[in-house]
Amino acid sequence: AAGLYVVATPIGNLGDMTLRGLAILAAADAVLAEDTRVSRTLLARYGVETPLTPYHEHNAAEARPRALRRIAEGQALALISDAGTPLVSDPGFKLVAEAVAAGFAVTTAPGASAALAALCVAGLPTDRFFFEGFLPPRSAARRERINALAGVPATLVFYEAPSRLAETLADLAAELGPRPAAVARELTKLHEEVLRGTLDALAARFQASGPPRGEIVVVVGAPQAREAVDETTLDAEIGAALKTLS
Ligand code: SAM
Repeated sequence: AAGLYVVATPIGNLGDMTLRGLAILAAADAVLAEDTRVSRTLLARYGVETPLTPYHEHNAAEARPRALRRIAEGQALALISDAGTPLVSDPGFKLVAEAVAAGFAVTTAPGASAALAALCVAGLPTDRFFFEGFLPPRSAARRERINALAGVPATLVFYEAPSRLAETLADLAAELGPRPAAVARELTKLHEEVLRGTLDALAARFQASGPPRGEIVVVVGAPQAREAVDETTLDAEIGAALKTLS
């Protein structure tokens, strides 16, 4: 049926493609893909021959209205990204927003996402989590951003490039203190590995070993209950404590 279908693809292991996602990709009039070469290889592995149309950061301004016109004409368009779930640190949000605004059907075939995969193996609380995605590449801006997240009462999830992992862990340790954390690398792939420890220990480890290979998610534990208390509550508590002294 006409509409936009947001379809997740694997984050490494080809076995993680869903049956429903494949059926949607096979039946679609076109698949919008970030990197058509990457996606052509992927779809060929599943025997899907649907034509691919590029949709990425640099052509979205022109590709978006074209895609919306095709849906208006009755076509079914599927959106995928290079890996995992589109819209999660990947293009697609504006396309979905405009499809919704135009009254088109928007459906998803959910599946793999590195953020949730990392949370599943980190060994840190998952009742509340905050997905930050990529931090700024420069240290000053990164420190500022981490500082702004210090009071968030939830497990924090970051994506990071291997070349910046050690400095990002050091900045996280400097701003957040020795919180428990996990570095999840190459999830679902042959060299999957999860390293757990305090932020400062993990920073030291990667400073010593040099940049690791592969793709990485950093998961950081929430602040201790004390740190997360907001100032109003803190003032009230201090006031109450002072009264007991007088
Ligand atoms: N949309 C994707 C998703 O849902 O996971 C994320 C796209 S983002 C551009 C790519 C980043 O996701 C990588 O730099 C890495 O931080 C993380 N990532 C993707 N695949 C991964 C894997 N197999 N193991 C660990 N991290 C992964």
